Order: sequence, then structure tokens, then C-alpha cells
Amino acid sequence: MTYAERKARRAANRSAHQAEARTEINERDAAIERLKPVADGGNNFAQSLIGQYERKGYLSDKQWHWVKKLADEAKAPKAAPAPATNTPNLAAIFDKFAGFACGGLYFSKKNGADLVWILKDGDMHYDRMLLGKLEGGKVTLFGRKVEGARMTTEEVWTIIADIERDPLAAAQAHGRLSGRCSCCSRELTDPVSVERGIGPVCLEKMS
Ligand SMILES: [Zn+2]
Repeated sequence: MTYAERKARRAANRSAHQAEARTEINERDAAIERLKPVADGGNNFAQSLIGQYERKGYLSDKQWHWVKKLADEAKAPKAAPAPATNTPNLAAIFDKFAGFACGGLYFSKKNGADLVWILKDGDMHYDRMLLGKLEGGKVTLFGRKVEGARMTTEEVWTIIADIERDPLAAAQAHGRLSGRCSCCSRELTDPVSVERGIGPVCLEKMS
């Protein structure tokens, strides 16, 4: 290798290193920028890391690890608490009935309160598992409880959406399948009621 070649190679190496260093600095500055909202949100650790970087212009590898980790976590925020969803049609059922069974769920109105527990229906009352609540016309599901009952929130929302769309139709479909009235839990025996999937008194109240 000639002197000129060696010189050219050294120059190329140098500029490659410089480019690498620039990339590293850019990435670190970008991570600090992404960490700022976390610090503004009251995270003391993030505030301390940014403060040290701005004062000293330097952080240890371990600290950079945390900067990137916290910034990445901020980019993919943890699941937000379940929002309450307005379900006026579902809520209206409990102006007339204290309980309602439909699609594998059982709704149980708390006496004298504007509160309805949403439960996974079971063969026996004590098999019923709490999944969420309907309060002030809004449904809130308890994620952990839903998991504990071996259901997914999507499944529960699907059933609730079905009822909300058309409570009477949902009650009738449930009654035809189960042979019981959704509104009063009585067995449907009269052929007309079996066909309708709901008892005559409850049909009138629901209509
Ligand atoms: Zn009934």
C-alpha cells in the first residue's frame, strides 16, 4: 500500500468514525427530546437525567440506557384506564327491570341506586362473576376482573353493543336460545312466548 493509499484510507476511517459519532450524538439528543414530555409529566428520574445532561453534557452508558428506555416507554404508553361508554338503551332497561340476562352476561341492579353490576352469567347466582358496572348511563369494564372471568373486554363489549343496538331484539334472541325470559328469568312455556323469546308482561314493558 502506498503512502497516498494509506492516507486516503485513514481519512476514510476518520470520516466514518466522525459520521458514527454524529449519528450517536443525534440519537442521544433525540432521546433526550423524547424524554422531555416524560419529565414534564412529573417523572423525577427523567428530570434528573435531563438536568445532568444539560449541566454536564455527559451521561454514563447506564444513564443513556435509562434515557432510551424511559423515552421508548413514553412512545408506547401503557393501556389507558378503560373509558366509560354511554349506553342509554341498556340503561333504560333498568328503569323497568332489576335484572337482565343476555348473551352470557347478567345485569343486576343495586336496590335503590343508579348502579347496575355487570356479571358473567352462571348457572347459579354464586357462579356469577363481576365484570364491570353501569352507572350514570355509562358502562365501565374492570379489565382485571374480565380477565379473571376468562373473558376478553372485546367479547363483553360485543355483547353489550348488541344489547345497546336493540335491547328487545337481543332479549328475544337470548330467550329463544335459552328458553328463559331475559327480563324476569322465568322459563318460557307458552308456545307464543317461546316463539317470541320473551314473556308477555316483559314484552309489554320492553316495548
Ligand atoms: Zn319475563
